[in-house]
Amino acid sequence: MSAARADPAARAIVVGRAGALAEPVALEDGEHDDAIFLGVQEGGAPLFAVEREGVELKGLRDLAVSLPAAQLGAVAYASGVANWARATRFCGICGTATRAGEGGHVRICENGHHHHPRTDPVVIMLVGDGDRVLMGRQASWPAGRYSALAGFVEPGEPLEAAVAREIAEESGIRVRDVRYVASQPWPFPVSLMLGFHATYESGEPHALDGELEDVRWFTRDEVTTAASGDDTWIDGPDVDGLLLPPATAIARLLIDRWLAEG
Ligand SMILES: [Zn+2]
Repeated sequence: MSAARADPAARAIVVGRAGALAEPVALEDGEHDDAIFLGVQEGGAPLFAVEREGVELKGLRDLAVSLPAAQLGAVAYASGVANWARATRFCGICGTATRAGEGGHVRICENGHHHHPRTDPVVIMLVGDGDRVLMGRQASWPAGRYSALAGFVEPGEPLEAAVAREIAEESGIRVRDVRYVASQPWPFPVSLMLGFHATYESGEPHALDGELEDVRWFTRDEVTTAASGDDTWIDGPDVDGLLLPPATAIARLLIDRWLAEG
């Protein structure tokens, strides 16, 4: 670790409360000891995460929809570990200050309590009934945007049960046959999105719990038409028709897989 920190080829991903820089930068004097070790890049250069004052960071939500998956993975990793370290400056068991160990991947207090980074699982799911899919929208989104339903997994809850519960709570729809599709890190602050397909069983969709402004069915034709457009989901203007999430979002992968399965 000492050699990695002293390596002139070492690079760091700059992260903070406001977001991150997409491209790694050289370490500055004085921040080598505090940098969190992330791994070794292709070619052998060590990679770290650092927090830096006075740097204008790009919001992680923008990065999440604009960066290629591998680069987003590194930024999500850096941001997740740094967010955890910042929130773990004191021991949750005895309340004393913690110090970093193992390259920054454990925080240890003076009484020897060890704290490791954690990940919060979020399920995101697309319900299909053959020719239609269920999607919802939040009131804060520009008009026309709809996406898959999502929610946090509760302690002690299997993922399949979380999928069925969240759909029922947010829309009143009952589902069966919950199938895992794919996952995506979602560093807000330390989540992992777990993507599922589920099959409709019963009920009519209603926005029930106040999280969503609207939840409704879309036909295969409506979704096919929207998927063939290239409008930007995040920054674009209000639209009359349906606008789907961008290609980099796991919600879009769930939609595209559903379309492809026919
Ligand atoms: Zn302690």
